[in-house]
This record gives sequence, C-alpha cells and structure tokens, in this order.
Amino acid sequence: MAKVTGAQIMARALKDQGVEYMFGIVGFPVQPIAREAQKAGIKYYGCRNEQAASYAAGAVGYLTGRPGACVVVSGPGVVHGLAGLANAKENCWPMILIGGASPVRQNGLGAFQEERQVLIATPFCKFAHAVETPSRIPFYVEMAVRNSIYGRPGAVYLDMPDDIILGEAEESEVSYPKRCADPPRIAAPQEYVDQAINVLRSAKRPLVIVGKGMAWSGAEGEVRKFIDRTGLPFLASPMGKGVMDDSHPLSVGAARSHALQQADVIFLMGARLNWIMHFGLPPRFNKDVRIVQLDISPEAISQNVPAEVALVGDGKAIVGQLNKSLESIEWMYPKDTDWHKAIAQKSAANAKQIQPMIDDESAPTNYYRAFRDITPWLPKDAIIVGEGANTMDIGRTQMPNNAPRTRLDAGSYGTMGVGMGLVMAACAVHPDRPVISVSGDSAIGFSGMEMETVCRHKMPVKIVVLNNGGIGGGAAKLPDNPLEALPGHLTVGARYDKMMEAFGGKGYFVTDPKDLKAALEGAMAFKGPALVNVQLQHDAGRKPQEFKWHT
Ligand code: ADP
Ligand code: MG
Repeated sequence: MAKVTGAQIMARALKDQGVEYMFGIVGFPVQPIAREAQKAGIKYYGCRNEQAASYAAGAVGYLTGRPGACVVVSGPGVVHGLAGLANAKENCWPMILIGGASPVRQNGLGAFQEERQVLIATPFCKFAHAVETPSRIPFYVEMAVRNSIYGRPGAVYLDMPDDIILGEAEESEVSYPKRCADPPRIAAPQEYVDQAINVLRSAKRPLVIVGKGMAWSGAEGEVRKFIDRTGLPFLASPMGKGVMDDSHPLSVGAARSHALQQADVIFLMGARLNWIMHFGLPPRFNKDVRIVQLDISPEAISQNVPAEVALVGDGKAIVGQLNKSLESIEWMYPKDTDWHKAIAQKSAANAKQIQPMIDDESAPTNYYRAFRDITPWLPKDAIIVGEGANTMDIGRTQMPNNAPRTRLDAGSYGTMGVGMGLVMAACAVHPDRPVISVSGDSAIGFSGMEMETVCRHKMPVKIVVLNNGGIGGGAAKLPDNPLEALPGHLTVGARYDKMMEAFGGKGYFVTDPKDLKAALEGAMAFKGPALVNVQLQHDAGRKPQEFKWHT
C-alpha cells in the first residue's frame, strides 16, 4: 500500500481547490510543502521577506478570484506573514497563509520557533485552524478556500506542524473534497431593487461610488451598462478605478471633493464609507445625504451612515437586476443639469490650479511635471501599482485606468511597503501584460530587496521611483551629524536604480525632467525589469488641499 506525506497531501489539496500561485520563504518545516506544491503544478515564487510574499498572495486572490497562498516558516516567519493577512483582511482580498509550526509532540517545551500561531493569526482571519493529522488536510484546505472567497472575501490561516508535514497517511484513506465552486451570486429581493431605482430617480445631485467590491465581483459589464443607461455621475474609489473607464464623461474624479460634499443621493456600490471616503460624514459629505448601498456583507450596511435602501448580495448579480428593471422604465438622469455644470466647473478649476506645476521645467522636478511624461508612457493594458503618500495620491489622479482590476495600491489598510508584493502578484498573474509601479522613495525601501526576486523570476516590471529623499519629503542636504536630521529624512539622491542593476535589471537616474522621457522609453524597451529613479525637489508636494486636516 502506498503512503503519502502531509506535504504531498497539502500540495494536491491546494491544487484541487484552484490555488495556482504560492509565494513564500522556505526553511524549517515548510520546505517540503513548497517543493511538493511545485511538483503538483502550483507556481512557486521564492521571496526575500515574508511580508512581501504575503502581500503578493492577497493581491493574487483579488486578481484571480481564488486565494493566493503564502507559505512561511514557524514563529518569526508567521509573525512577518501576519502583515499580509491584515492587509488582505482590510482589503477584503482572499488569501491563505500556511504557517509551519514546531512539532506537536514538543508543544510547550520551548521548541525552536514555538509560537501560538493560530491565536495570533485569528484576529486577521475569517478562518484559522491547526491541522491535527495528515489525512484531514484536504478537509481543512477546502474549508479555508471556501471561507476566503464566500461572502466578504478575506484571509485564512492554516497551521502545519512539522510532524504533520512529514507525517504519512495511506493514500487510499485520504479523501479530497471536490473543488469548491466559485461564490454563489446572490441577488436582492425585487422590492428593494425597485426602491433603489425610485430613490435614484428622486435625486437632484446623484452620485454613484464604485468600489473594489465591484471589481472583485467582475461587475464591470453590468456597471458600465448601468451608468450609460442611467446617465448618473460616478466616482471610483482608489482601486475601484477602471471598473468604469476613468476617461468616461460621467466620471467626477477631477472634482471628487465637490461631488462628495454636494451629492444628495449616493449609490454606494461595493465600497465602504471608511477613512478613504471620509466616513460619509460632514464636512466632507452633505449631512442629509441619502444612501443606497450595495454590499455582499449585511453587516456592512449602514456603517457610519444609515442606508435608505440595502441591496445585500453580489455586485454583478444586483447591478444586473437593476439593468433589467430599467428596461421597462423611461427615466434617465437628465444630461445638462446644474449638477453636471458645477462638477465640470470644479474640474476645470482644479486642472487650472495644477497647470503651473505641470509646466514647470526646473530641476529637480515636481510630481505633476513627472507625471506629464509618465502618464502618456503607460501602455493601455497596464496593471498600475502605486504607493507612497504623495506619489500614490497624485498618481491616482494623474494616471487613468481604463480596465477593471488594473490598479493596486496601499488600499484600505494604507499599507506602506506593499508595492513589491503587488508587483510580484501582477507579474505572476499577468505575464503577458505590462506591469508598471510608481512608488515613493520611502515606500520602495520597505521591500526593495524583492528586486532580486523580480529579476530572478524574469518579471519585466517597470518601476518609477519618485524620489524626494524622505518620508513625505526630505532635506536639500543632510546635516553632518545624522542624529540632527529630521526623523523622516533619507539619503538625498539615493540610487535605487543601482539596486535594480545589482540583480541584473536596468536602472536609470534622472535629475533633470528634460531627460525623463528618454529614460522611460529606455526602460520600456528593455526586456527585463527596469527602475527609473527620478529625483524630485526635496519639498515637492500636492496641490493645496481644501481640507488640510485630511491629507
Ligand atoms: P473601496 O476601497 O473600493 O471603497 P472597500 O474594500 O472599502 O472598497 O469595500 C469593498 C466592499 O465590497 C466591502 O464592503 C465588501 O463587503 C464588498 N464586496 C465584496 N465582494 C462583493 C461582491 N461580490 N458583491 C458586492 N460587494 C462585495
Ligand atoms: Mg519620499
């Protein structure tokens, strides 16, 4: 009779459940899991830091609809991997963290890297469990995968002690559950669908907010049809960008603050009124704003602002219902309202305000002048990763997305250092599409060592670092005594481009904006990973903001 190991069972169970990508760092006791996963046909990406590996797994889940896996060693490896669990939880992204653990028979003895791993993973997870015998691994894997993608997606954790990984079972006695089906598309009661349409019809200044829940549910076809059919102005959340084409005439992106503040009815679609949306509260929102809310999670309804109509269920299914109901209704939001005019005026005023910065040729450059060359250089089908405070915020306004799931950034958790993980995920899932990352200099530092990983894995990412020498800006020159530098100040003109060159990629250093375009084109022409390091004025910033306290 044939025996199989826990590692072999784990690999087959993951593959059976549609887990195609695994990131991690091997060592005691998970080396066999990664190796058996490779043999089972799962793509394994060996990373340099568990944080980046775990961020990648979450992003893979968002991009593919099945959880990405991250495998980490016991104790400190699991602790580092918690970063990605928390990030995935906050973003509602499915991922599965597989933590090696010290052998069960040594529990409590003070074993090597012994840690209460299920306990510490639990707050970040929808499901966290230790596997207690090799033959039950497939049961737990199916349960983990199902929990990660059903309902509001999120993170799950499986604890794999050394003696379970190496332990054996009779092959004939291991049963593998069938692949768990993609999440059911739950529809809303027709009565609520009708109510939602009535509320939208009664609006004077309506606004649709499209969030990443709609991107996750693959609702782009339905949302596009809905906006075109109703004529309702819309605002994309940061990662909701691309569900609707940013260049659509009904996008209010360039007058975001004004639209949020003045709207009388908001249709919140797969987005949350959290800090990113200023909690839906005054002064950023109208105090009497009426909310129609669509969300897969019933508990999310009425968070911070009571919803007048609750559409609980799947985004694609429910917007499809709305479209169906609209077939028998004459109404459309009128074309030339004062609301459209006010938004257009505000957009024009905002554009005028940044124009001097776009036109400024001084060296070193500023954010807006840099984006003047970066934006037209972006390939049409690019996946765009953005991170860094100003780099991400300004980049979001300057770099349009025209397709869903093409923007990845610090997200709901505001995680800095997430960029290289997102890059690895995008390159793994979309080997045939261009992946562009535009990062701040502080941000690239967190996981900069993953440049070795992208070079080794031949991931042809193009990274642009907007380098102002610090966290939120640096100094013109650092003081002779390093202890006298401000806490956020980093090396002036640090050569992140040389890091990329060290591992076989291509690097460019740009100190004058007149050389930026050529450097970008050179990077794009290079077949492998390339990094364009753009020196900025040390105090380059955003355009003046109306609500300073929020920036
Ligand atoms: P954003 O950052 O774009 O505002 P959030 O992550 O804050 O997005 O919110 C996304 C919301 O989408 C969550 O409340 C989540 O429950 C919801 N969601 C997740 N999956 C679906 C789905 N299939 N259909 C509708 N809503 C979904
Ligand atoms: Mg900086």
